[in-house]
Amino acid sequence: MHNRPVVLIVLGTRPEAIKLFPLIRRLNGDGRFEVRVCHSGQHSTLADPILQLTGVTVDHACAAMAPGQSLDQLTVAAMMAIGAVCDRERPDWVIVQGDTTTALVGALAAHYRKIPVLHVEAGLRSGDSHHPWPEEANRRMISVIAARHCAPTPSAAEALTREGVAPAAVSVTGNTGIDALRWMAAELERQPHLAQRMAALEQRFAGKRVIALTLHRRENIGSGIASVAAAVKQLARREGVAFICPCHPNPLVQDVLREHLEGLPNVALVEPLGYPDFIRLLAAAHIVLTDSGGVQEEAPTFGTPVLVLRNTTERAEGVAAGTARLIGTDPQRIVHEVSLLLADQDAHAAMARAGNPYGDGCASERIANLLADEVLKAKSGSLSLPQ
Ligand code: UDP
Repeated sequence: MHNRPVVLIVLGTRPEAIKLFPLIRRLNGDGRFEVRVCHSGQHSTLADPILQLTGVTVDHACAAMAPGQSLDQLTVAAMMAIGAVCDRERPDWVIVQGDTTTALVGALAAHYRKIPVLHVEAGLRSGDSHHPWPEEANRRMISVIAARHCAPTPSAAEALTREGVAPAAVSVTGNTGIDALRWMAAELERQPHLAQRMAALEQRFAGKRVIALTLHRRENIGSGIASVAAAVKQLARREGVAFICPCHPNPLVQDVLREHLEGLPNVALVEPLGYPDFIRLLAAAHIVLTDSGGVQEEAPTFGTPVLVLRNTTERAEGVAAGTARLIGTDPQRIVHEVSLLLADQDAHAAMARAGNPYGDGCASERIANLLADEVLKAKSGSLSLPQ
């Protein structure tokens, strides 16, 4: 028997590890909860170094991922594994983050056992169920299940209430990714050696303006990535510019980038960077080209303009604030937009100055307090699960 309420946190990928470690650390230090962490194994190679770096202990390591697995197989394997963990731990609450298969399955496993779910980073919507795919549908399904929705921004909260979620169940907390970023930046001040790979790349490209490039979304696999690579090849002919591209391990991403860009003197195609190295890259970069969600949220903290290699985004706040521009994957458009920011200091400064609309670094604190309120409510019998 547990004396304190048990909170089971389910994660499995790099963005979940990054956006949940500040909350796990906060809850562990709280004393009001028994915290358990369940790792689905969806992207262990990318997620595990972050958990190690930040001192997160995994209580239940599942091995839901297998090479060449379909989404169906991943979903079934994760469901069986996370369901078994729920049966063993019998948590009072389950916390999931974002929109991965792990998050959806974690929420569903909890729902099948009538365990309330708290959703971190709730309410993001692109409005197109195929972009990002399958994540847009995943997060909508989680919103149907969750009892408590932690929206990072007011517009994410509005999206939820527009869909019929009770306003009392929605809170604007800020994004825990900004808590993570601030922790990492402070840690790098104390321990600069954590970002040695970036230090070496900065030395290699000393005197050049660095453009960071990340690409991994399923909807860009194929022609999207080839188009981006063609644009980068053209831009990298310029003397004073260098591209640093941490390549996602997915061979469908890596192989195309290598085919187009391998061996170019102004392009470093590198293995995925550890989180500390990547944060140093975002801080050092002149421009970021990305299709990542989290990177759109992070770069504004360092005043680094973001060109988003997608046609839709669920992070419209950055576009509205002027920190990000949606440019898609057409090579001519990419060359045009990058050239503009390289040539026009005022255009660059306007994007750099816009500030970060995604959080203030206190999201985990707010979520921990919300959870404590919910636990007290449940004790007094007033918690209602969604029908
Ligand atoms: N990231 C990292 N190393 C890299 C590229 C990205 O640590 O080489 C981090 C980045 O700081 C961000 C997160 O990974 O917090 C973004 O993950 P990803 O782009 O895989 O997912 P998304 O945010 O699109 O869901």
